[in-house]
Amino acid sequence: MPELPEVEITARRLHRAVAGARVESALAPGVVTMKTFDPPLDALAGATLTGVRRLGKMLAVDAGELSLLVHLMSAGRLAIFDKRASLRDRSARVLLRLDDGRELRLREFGTQQRAWAKLLPAGEVERDEYVATLGPDAHPARPLAEFAQLVRRPRHLHALLRDQRVIAGIGRSWVDEILWTAELSAFKNGSDLDDAEVARLHDACDRVLGAALEHYEEVVGDTMPDKAPMPLQVHARQGQPCPRCGATLAAVFFKDYVTTYCPAEQTGGRVLKDRRLSRLLR
Ligand SMILES: [Zn+2]
Repeated sequence: MPELPEVEITARRLHRAVAGARVESALAPGVVTMKTFDPPLDALAGATLTGVRRLGKMLAVDAGELSLLVHLMSAGRLAIFDKRASLRDRSARVLLRLDDGRELRLREFGTQQRAWAKLLPAGEVERDEYVATLGPDAHPARPLAEFAQLVRRPRHLHALLRDQRVIAGIGRSWVDEILWTAELSAFKNGSDLDDAEVARLHDACDRVLGAALEHYEEVVGDTMPDKAPMPLQVHARQGQPCPRCGATLAAVFFKDYVTTYCPAEQTGGRVLKDRRLSRLLR
């Protein structure tokens, strides 16, 4: 699940690799991946790629007057390859063949096709519904007063921090790391945070995501591996000792994800009920 640090390092590496390259042809083997049809994808043929940048958890591949906006969702990956994909490569979704023989390839793993791409006139990217509604980036963090306004809402922090319209870039993995660093419960309401807690959360967002990005700058070479070397400390490590206090990490399971926390430091010693179960019993 690529989040701000993973998408940012992907954008930086791809930018370095493709800026200045010319597109020979473009095609979309993933029939449902392209969400736009006008301009057609092959309008990219002959265009020079000017760069790759991150917008929230999305990527934009800029090519002069056109821009390919890409959302990787959970299983998509955008990477550059020295050789063209086999036509039998069932993970291939969108292929930009460069005239130096390389290929910028959007792939998606697993059975679901959820990753998407839109080819837009460059000036329309900022007006796209997913881009225009993005909140400010979680890292670098906004000034404390502005951050406080963003998060003081009557919603659980776990949902609030992952809402891209509130604050952009955080998903299911890094939210656990941020809340653990800030020593806050995932189910505390943003509107119930006192000043010290807002300050801890603000600092944690900036520090955790910044450290992840620094880590990737050190360990990622020319290309981001399909499986990011995520420096996680608590996410999905329920049952293991908390790296800070040694208490056993606990988790709440949702339909298709998990939130892990330290009961001793985040929930006043309470182990939270499994919410799937409590919903059934209610
Ligand atoms: Zn702990």
